Amino acid sequence: MANGWCGLEVKIEDLKAICQGAGLRATHQRLEILGEVLKADDHPSAESIHARVRKRMPTVSLDTVYRTLATFEAFGIISRLHICSGRISYDPVRKRHDHFVCVECKRVFDCQIPGIDELPIPAEVTAWGEIASVQLELRGICKECLRRRRKENACG
Ligand SMILES: [Zn+2]
Ligand SMILES: [Zn+2]
Repeated sequence: MANGWCGLEVKIEDLKAICQGAGLRATHQRLEILGEVLKADDHPSAESIHARVRKRMPTVSLDTVYRTLATFEAFGIISRLHICSGRISYDPVRKRHDHFVCVECKRVFDCQIPGIDELPIPAEVTAWGEIASVQLELRGICKECLRRRRKENACG
């Protein structure tokens, strides 16, 4: 597994190791797409991953990107976030983390809320099945949106 947080430089050997570790053949296309997801610090949509990958692989289609992301998801390499807006974005699965979502600009921020793993799980949940992971989504308005709102109010 690559270490550290999103936004760090991702090495090709690390990408290969991630694919192979998950039991997936490390094709050139997969490595390029995975590299973009891991590099991103903005929880990108498939469309924006496609735009980034195309800079180095102009022939790659959006459909291929969709399919590759779905494969990564199925193999547990990335996770798909369903943000309140209905926008779907992708997140590398590296370290358990939570999200703060701005309901206005839909930006997603990574954060880590302590104690999540020790949350008491109600018996009705354990009756449904086994829990693999717990994630918290906090919704609010980010600083920038708050600032913009304040400005708009001041001018209007
Ligand atoms: Zn915002
Ligand atoms: Zn995240």
